[in-house]
Amino acid sequence: MLEVLNKQIVLASRPVGEPTAENFRLVEVPLASPTEGELQLQTLYLSLDPYMRGRMSAAKSYAQPVPIGGVMEGGAVSRVLASRNPSFTVGDIVQGRTGWQTHPISNGSNLERVDPKLAPISTALGVLGMPGMTAYTGLLNIGQPKPGETLVVAAATGPVGSLVGQIGRLKGCRVVGIAGGADKVAYMRDELGFDVALDHRAPDFAAQLAGACPDGIDIYFENVGGHVWEAVFPLLNNFARVPVCGLIAHYNEDGPQPGPDRLPMTMRAVLSKRLTFRGFIVTDFAAQAADFRRDVGAWLKSGAIKYREDVVHGLEKAPEAFIGLLKGRNFGKLVVKVAD
Ligand code: NDP
Repeated sequence: MLEVLNKQIVLASRPVGEPTAENFRLVEVPLASPTEGELQLQTLYLSLDPYMRGRMSAAKSYAQPVPIGGVMEGGAVSRVLASRNPSFTVGDIVQGRTGWQTHPISNGSNLERVDPKLAPISTALGVLGMPGMTAYTGLLNIGQPKPGETLVVAAATGPVGSLVGQIGRLKGCRVVGIAGGADKVAYMRDELGFDVALDHRAPDFAAQLAGACPDGIDIYFENVGGHVWEAVFPLLNNFARVPVCGLIAHYNEDGPQPGPDRLPMTMRAVLSKRLTFRGFIVTDFAAQAADFRRDVGAWLKSGAIKYREDVVHGLEKAPEAFIGLLKGRNFGKLVVKVAD
């Protein structure tokens, strides 16, 4: 009988600038046997998310970096293959931060059961998982959308941005979605029902955004930073709210970039326009998980919201897919199908 090995993608070296394939290494190790209280899992879907770029870096952050040689961190949906933990039985579908590997061992402490009858199990990594919760809690708590307001969101075909825009629509906002490329623009307009869909790669993007927001911007859900932020900033209205969720345009930067000091101008606008900026990490709102599941689950069931997945096949494809995610090559929630 063939010995089953645990395939793992480990961090081979820390990237300087954009990650490359050389920063990752595929290793195969013998399967460990679960000890008392532990579970042997088989990864079915691995989630690839922008925050992983931060874990590859040793720079100070809100979470510890992955050590060199350590298994890349990540959420996954798995099947229980063997259980020595009374809370789980063989065949259970679970999700947790079990990393980029095919056969993790877990003590069960951070695992949640996934109900395959509720929705496709991969959605536990997207619209019904961490990115969905990020969109829901960041928009409702910090953005505080009101009918008639203008909400702008970028990375708006991804799992966070697409849900932010759709919840904004349900709350009565006029939604301006921003993404890269004609296909994504068509999706935002025709499938997600955003009021305006813009391509941030258009040479006249800033002028298009100004034209799309004749009454200014009341909520800017910040997912990207960079040139999108620069176009948004002058359009913010008095009392605008800016949930600062992600800054993907800057994740590959190693330090401060040369350029004019915009801090005094920014702070002047914060003061005179009475702007609210609030950074958040999804776990800040962990107490709202039940509300999130109830509301988003119901919207999904009724067809009020849609989601899109970008599925790549095979754990060995994860590094290339992740590198593409940072460049906008994904179209929808990026997941790796690791096993059937
Ligand atoms: P997505 O699947 O939307 O992928 C990221 C997208 O960002 C890319 O597809 C690309 O789309 C866009 N992008 C990349 N570079 C740029 C750029 N320079 N300018 C404009 N757009 C760019 O990701 P998620 O939905 O998973 O995450 C969205 C954001 O939310 C990220 O910044 C992430 O770090 C953050 N996040 C924060 C959390 C928190 O707790 N605070 C939790 C989860 C996510 P396009 O083709 O449109 O350019």
